[in-house]
Amino acid sequence: MSLTAPSVQNEDTSLDLTLRPQTWNEYIGQEGIKKNLKILIQAAKERDEAVDHLLFYGPPGLGKTTLANLIAREMGAQIKITSGPAIERVGDLASILTNLSPGDILFIDEAHRLNKLIEEILYPALESRSLDIVIGKGPSARTIQLDLPPFTLIAATTRMALLSSPLRSRFSGGTFRLDFYSDDEIGKIIMRSAKILGISIDNEAILEIAKRSRFTPRVANRLLKRARDFAQVERSGSLTADLAVKALDLMEIDRRGLEATDRMILDAIIKKFSGGPVGLATLAAATSEEKETIEEVYEPYLMQLGFIERTSRGRVATRHAYEHIGKEIPSAGQANLI
Ligand code: ADP
Repeated sequence: MSLTAPSVQNEDTSLDLTLRPQTWNEYIGQEGIKKNLKILIQAAKERDEAVDHLLFYGPPGLGKTTLANLIAREMGAQIKITSGPAIERVGDLASILTNLSPGDILFIDEAHRLNKLIEEILYPALESRSLDIVIGKGPSARTIQLDLPPFTLIAATTRMALLSSPLRSRFSGGTFRLDFYSDDEIGKIIMRSAKILGISIDNEAILEIAKRSRFTPRVANRLLKRARDFAQVERSGSLTADLAVKALDLMEIDRRGLEATDRMILDAIIKKFSGGPVGLATLAAATSEEKETIEEVYEPYLMQLGFIERTSRGRVATRHAYEHIGKEIPSAGQANLI
């Protein structure tokens, strides 16, 4: 995986843990979501009940897991963390659910990858806190019903469209979409992270890193750490803008945060397919990337920058994309330009 991929990579696990915000104040941005969640939490506390089930969606690295942890902390509840693909059998889910204590939070990441059989077991668990288990096979099979303690499911997904609609409709506490962060917010996150990691960094360096962080906190933290390593090897006591730019150039991350694969995707659309429209499968074949990776990792950012657009006939490069890669915009008439 690449440096700017917002999904979790090996080195991130400890970095994520060290830098994960512990209070609402430390959780920068997403103000609308925070406001709603605070009300939900206060109301649940006053009623002495578990918070209603919640669904968070949006690209990786934007703070979904962090929010789930914050809610648990605020509620004084335990959080159990698992993911869609980790729950393979009905028995796996049954064991997770029956081991919950009252008020616990169950966090299921990548909820779009839950299999249908597991989902069906989940519905009554969410609605009436009951678990129906079939024991035995054939004519002697019987169903037993177990009562579950009050608990909160917090599900997270990067692919809302892949979540089945019966599951989607069961989040009584609400469904929240996390947005990309502004450069200003990313700047604040970098400042906080630098403090925790003991990095002395100047404001311009923060700005340089923020601009290339794909509006994503996880990427910002990762780039900060890499730039710090660079400054250290250069024997510089503090991270200046000059050093930050050199480090980012070395990582081949350009001034808009694009890395080699992003540029390859833009290049393919513009040069091989005359600006598009081009279908996802064709684009994947032309760039030797997985369809899912293009859709989940690269496209959301390229669309956020306004470099590509999704149309019913496929992906199209915009004039900003032509400008960015320095290719002349085709004259009117021949272009499918947006
Ligand atoms: P997701 O679950 O959406 O993939 P995470 O919650 O794991 O993302 O966030 C990745 C890392 O980014 C966290 O460990 C944290 O350090 C940082 N982070 C995410 N959101 C914020 C935020 N709003 N403020 C500060 N740091 C954040």
